[in-house]
Amino acid sequence: MTFGRMGARGIANKEISPEFIMRISKATAAYLDTNHIAVGRDTRLTGEMLADAAVVGLRSSGVNVTRLGVVPTPSIQRFAEVNTTPALQITASHNPPEYNGIKLIGPRGMVLERNSVKAVREMMGSDELSVPEWNEIGQVYRVKDANTEYIESVISEIDSSVIENQRPLVVLDAGHGAGALTSPTLLQMLGCKVITLNTHPDGNFPGRNPEPTEEGLSDLIRTVPAIGADLGIAHDGDADRVIFVDENGDFIEGDTALAALADAELSPGDTVVTAFNTSQRLADVVRKNDASIEYTPIGNSYILSRVKAIQNEGESVSIAGEGNGGIIYPNHRLNRDGGYVAAKFLQLIAGRSASTVVAPYDGYYLRRKNIPYDTTADRDKILSRASTWAETADGPVTTMDGYRVDLDDGWILVRPSGTEPFVRVYAEATSVKEASERAERVRTIIATT
Ligand code: MG
Repeated sequence: MTFGRMGARGIANKEISPEFIMRISKATAAYLDTNHIAVGRDTRLTGEMLADAAVVGLRSSGVNVTRLGVVPTPSIQRFAEVNTTPALQITASHNPPEYNGIKLIGPRGMVLERNSVKAVREMMGSDELSVPEWNEIGQVYRVKDANTEYIESVISEIDSSVIENQRPLVVLDAGHGAGALTSPTLLQMLGCKVITLNTHPDGNFPGRNPEPTEEGLSDLIRTVPAIGADLGIAHDGDADRVIFVDENGDFIEGDTALAALADAELSPGDTVVTAFNTSQRLADVVRKNDASIEYTPIGNSYILSRVKAIQNEGESVSIAGEGNGGIIYPNHRLNRDGGYVAAKFLQLIAGRSASTVVAPYDGYYLRRKNIPYDTTADRDKILSRASTWAETADGPVTTMDGYRVDLDDGWILVRPSGTEPFVRVYAEATSVKEASERAERVRTIIATT
């Protein structure tokens, strides 16, 4: 099980048991000192059972619950923000079908920050969680229109006239996840003709896994050109991310879409916040727009915390996010929103072909090498050699989550994997050959022999 910045995730009914969900729900309510929490879920087979467990945990702590049913994460986040109610989302996002988990959302609609998640985790072990008298248990309310309100909120913020004028034909692949309940209507209301693939909610995920990878989207990639569609749109399991396929059936890298959207959004003096494994494509766009870029450690919660801090200093962050389809428009909402980003992308390409729009941002290649290790001591030896390599390397070095060296036409990053016994070497360059050679060169320097 992982338990960190995005809440807890693991194999459902084993690592993520109903007992665990009850306990974390009680601890979250105690930590947030609230008497009302909303509960939602994605489409996983274990979702309803685990949402039931959250509800039982909360009611037995004297907390009232609003049940939202199946909702994309941006939908429950909007509900939390608008109603100033914390929320618990039962989801494992992009993980395979056997997983489930929980995202902890604060009363402003943002996922809780690291320190808060840590505090909740500590409270789970406490004996002092509230146990009210028999006549003081929490009540349950049901809200059925959270998704409708979410769709309307996105529509109200997007000028859809340019999309309506074109009536683009789009193929939506919601990957059987929660986006199946919102994106078809959203896209229709934006003015698209919509064909759907894998867009019935199904916790068996028969069509594809929840992670929208190029291999996973093979049906979408075949369908878009076969029916002459203008764009393919795919979500992960909880639809906070979105990935696109162009009219020729070519997969658009998340980094490329991020750079294209950023180029349309940035003004001089803006700041972009992104993870420090994001493609040079974004750095190029930032330079071109006289904006600045701030890197954070890898992970959405680091990005959100940094955006919030910059906004508190009175500066503007018009776009932030990562190259995995998780893009944030902080002026819309301080979280990732797959439906909103799809709408922004449709606006961007209106009247043009998607391939033409993204072409200027392509042309970088990322290659990765893994260096396996057996013990922590071995890992530290590899990282120590990486430190020496970075000091003498030919470009500015950033150390926050490993070592990143920026080059004129790309970068090299060495960092330990968070989930597997590997130190990873990433290299980006303007050709596959150069990217492979860079990664291999550094691997050779720092690997144990
Ligand atoms: Mg997700």
